[in-house]
Amino acid sequence: MPSCLIIGECMVELSPLDANTLNKRFAGDTFNTAVYLKRNLPDCVVTYVTAVGADALSQQMLDVMQLEGLDTRYVAKSQTHTVGMYLVTTDASGERSFAYWRNNSAARNVMALVTLPETCFDVVYVSGITVAILDVPQREQLLRALASYRERGATIVFDPNYRPLLWSSIQEARDWTTRFYAACDIAFPGGDDHAALYLHKDEGAIVGFLQSMNIGEIVLKRGADNVEIYRNNEHVSVAVTPVQTVVDTTSAGDAFIGGYLAAKLAGFTSADAAAMGAEVAGVVIGAKGAIVPADYYQSRLAN
Ligand code: ADP
Repeated sequence: MPSCLIIGECMVELSPLDANTLNKRFAGDTFNTAVYLKRNLPDCVVTYVTAVGADALSQQMLDVMQLEGLDTRYVAKSQTHTVGMYLVTTDASGERSFAYWRNNSAARNVMALVTLPETCFDVVYVSGITVAILDVPQREQLLRALASYRERGATIVFDPNYRPLLWSSIQEARDWTTRFYAACDIAFPGGDDHAALYLHKDEGAIVGFLQSMNIGEIVLKRGADNVEIYRNNEHVSVAVTPVQTVVDTTSAGDAFIGGYLAAKLAGFTSADAAAMGAEVAGVVIGAKGAIVPADYYQSRLAN
């Protein structure tokens, strides 16, 4: 049975239904990827590692994780902190903005609270947000854990997902992102992140930089444009079918990675995995929210 370990933060997602009512869901980059991976490959054991609180809201989050079929045995429960939260608002022109309450979240202590599984996994996935929310000792601890899983045969996957607000400086973000890149086998760089973090002006600069770190598989997501994959010395370009009516691009990249990893874990080629990732992301951006309802998702994916 394929297996994947994903470490990160899931939050309460609040979005206005009308002037007086907020809709509550649960989301967060690594959680979104875990959900879409599991939905596409139900046979895969997807172990999601985070920390929540000991309160009712945290329990609801755990219930949703379990409803999605995630293995939550390694979710830590903090007695002193609870889950983070964000509010999505949309202005008159449709532009979304996010306000976060996560500075004190339980997940910021996940590495200190959790004992990671001793068993190995086919894939271990973390993002730059996972790294950013941790203090320095926990980042070091996470790097050691990745190295240990990698030594035992796991494929380490990393998406830098740069969020400036979570770092004290660009330099700090750049240094840590580079260290995690160096620890991975498959990377999902984004053009905007690299322009901001490394001042890379084009894709050649991004790919050259990552290849110099011996990353065997580099997957460049480019919105509605082709996905470019650089695998050892091969380059493959995979077409994306542009979505006619984009409703909400939240979690497009996370969903893409979920689909990509599902296909890879099922034994498909990287090109097929990119096509799968694009299909999943295409469905997700056609509806509101990071996690679209499972029945909507299944009906759209089948079409
Ligand atoms: P991120 O969300 O990480 O910034 P992208 O914007 O590149 O990443 O989107 C991730 C994936 O979502 C793309 O590779 C593509 O498969 C899909 N996607 C994004 N925008 C569109 C679109 N307008 N039409 C079709 N697919 C899209």
